[in-house]
Parts: sequence; structure tokens; C-alpha cells
Amino acid sequence: MSSIVSKLPQTAVNIFSVMSALANEHKAINLSQGFPDYPCDPQLIKLVNKAMLAGHNQYAPMAGAVELRERIAEKADKLYNAAYNPDTEITVTAGGTEAIFTAITAVVNPNDEVIIFEPAYDCYAPAVKLAGGIVKSLQLHEPDYRIDWAMVRKLTTNKTRLIILNSPHNPTATILNEQDIKELTSLVKNTDIIILSDEVYEHLVFDGHKHLSMAAFRELKERSFVVASFGKLFHTTGWKIGYCMAPSQLMNEFKKVHQYNVFSVNTPMQIAAAEYLKDENHYLGLADFFQQKRDYFREALAATKFDLLPCSGSYFQSVTYRNVTDEKDSDFAVRLVKEFGVASIPISAFYSRAGNESVLRFCFAKKQETLDKAVERLLNL
Ligand code: GLN
Repeated sequence: MSSIVSKLPQTAVNIFSVMSALANEHKAINLSQGFPDYPCDPQLIKLVNKAMLAGHNQYAPMAGAVELRERIAEKADKLYNAAYNPDTEITVTAGGTEAIFTAITAVVNPNDEVIIFEPAYDCYAPAVKLAGGIVKSLQLHEPDYRIDWAMVRKLTTNKTRLIILNSPHNPTATILNEQDIKELTSLVKNTDIIILSDEVYEHLVFDGHKHLSMAAFRELKERSFVVASFGKLFHTTGWKIGYCMAPSQLMNEFKKVHQYNVFSVNTPMQIAAAEYLKDENHYLGLADFFQQKRDYFREALAATKFDLLPCSGSYFQSVTYRNVTDEKDSDFAVRLVKEFGVASIPISAFYSRAGNESVLRFCFAKKQETLDKAVERLLNL
């Protein structure tokens, strides 16, 4: 089969699979891939069970169970004062990743340019390339990883089709502020640029800050795909359910791809999610819950040789390690698993070009005892 021409010749197995496998192999504490190590609310499991026993075991409607789309529309209205029509502007997806892939596939034509900010979550660029698009990346830098909007303007051309934003940001844990929203709004005004806004950590914003969703700003909402994740909201990343909201014209194109990619997402979990979302306390408490974990982890990490980078949202804490070693982050991350028994993600995995980043990302969506054990080991550095 030497005749296969790879469509993604530079792409290897993603870093999350690699580091989680390495962590398992070496029985390390796994703070690499972002997922909780504590159980979800037992009530959710009961609701899924109930839905199965009640016979909700056949295909859901292509765009998602009606009652779930209704709850999603209510949530967007309550949180962002945003009106989305559940029939024409919301689709339930097989996780955030499918939503992102589908949105990109739906609107990026060959040679269209797509602006992404690096470090960038790893699924954006491959999807753009598969669609024949051209990735234009702008590098952000520690410690604050702020977007330089003058640079974004320079990158923007009449071929710019899409800008991909991610707030709260994975892996840097930054959030967009009012100034960013202003700059973005003025940048896209009078253009046909579409925004893909990855907001899967929307509920995990700390220190009293507000999540600034594209859904909340009229001029941005009308050109945005907003992507969300129930994995983060319910502590069930393995359920692979998320959703996308967009104005009907965009959503119409989105559904054309979704219907031939996934068709529809598993029914009983959608029925359960719809029921569970009736109680807003099931998501309004998430910021406090994770802020406690962030504070606990940061305080403990402060005693190690690492330097902590800011963390305003998401469930990731990054550190620099220049006091420890001048190794490449990918080498150091492997050594940290093998010699110290802690798995992290080297930040270079989120860059298209090799640099000298010296930054590791840790996931703190873990039980206190897991965080304790990890820090105990990191203190040996
Ligand atoms: N979003 C998760 C993270 O950043 C990983 C998801 C995945 O493994 N594809 O760690």
C-alpha cells in the first residue's frame, strides 16, 4: 500500500493519547490529558438508566433530542441573553471536537485562510488542512498570552474565512476580556469573516470574572459558531456529548456535514442531559468548585521549583521549569513520567513550529489526594 498519499503527513498520534498511555505504562499520576478522576453525580447515571429503561434507545433526531435543544436555548438565554432557535440554530454533537471539525468542514473552502492563535488546541489545524484551507497562526507568549490585535489585522486578508478563538483557553488558561471583544468586533466589521468560538470551558472562569461568550455580543453572535461541551459541565468527558450554536444560515451548513459524519448522538444521554439541565445549580457552581481545586493546586505547587503561570479559567495550570532544567519540554515531560511518576503535557504540542517554550501543562480536575500525591512527587525535583 505504498501508494497512500497522506492527507496529514506531519500529524502523529495526539499528545493526550501519548501521555495518558505513558502515564498508564509507568503507573504515574496522570495530570496530562484533561479529564476528572472523580465520579460524576450519581443522579446523572440514574437519569441515563431511566431513559434507557423508558425505551429511548433508537436514533435521536439528527440535530439532537428536542428537549435537550430547548434546554440549551434556555441556558444560552439565561447566561448570555442570547436567543437561539432550538429548531434551526442548535445541534447536539459527539463532543466539542466533532463540533469544531464539522464547523470547519462546513465553511472552509480550498485556499481559504484561517487564523488561529498558538499555543492552539491540537484539533484546529488538521481540520483546516483536511478542508484544503491554509492555517495562518499567530504566536502568543507567556506569561500572559495576550492577543496582539494589531498583528491579527496584519494577518487578515481578503481570503480570511475563519478566526478560531478559544476562551477559556486550553492550554494557557487565559480568558478573553472586554478589550479583546472590542478589537475583534471592529476587526470583523464589514467583512465576511466567520468566527469559530471554542467555549468548552465556559463555566470554568475564576476570580469573579465573567465568561465573554460570542453569543453575548450581537455583532459577533451573528457570524459565530459557539461550541460547548457536556463532558466538562457534567464531569463526563467519556460521554462525548457537546453542542454547537450558530445563526441559522451557518447552522444549516453545519448540519449538512454533521448528518453525514455522525448523523445523531446517542439518545439516552441526551434525554438525561435535558432533565439534568433543568436545575441551573448543576452548572452555576462549577466555577467555585474548580477555583477551589485551582487554588489548592497552585498553593501546593508554589513549594516546588516550578514557576506558576496565571490561571484565569479552564482546568489547566501551566508552569515554567527554567529553574529545573534546560531540556526540551517534550523530553522533560517524558522524564517526569519515568523518573518522578507525574504526567503532564508539554506545551510545544500546541505549536506548529518548534520553539524553546519550557512550559508544562497540568490538569487539576482531580481528587485532592491525586493532587497531593502529584505534588509530593514534584517536590523531589
Ligand atoms: N481536551 C482534553 C485536553 O486538553 C483532551 C481531549 C483529548 O484527549 N482529545 O487534555
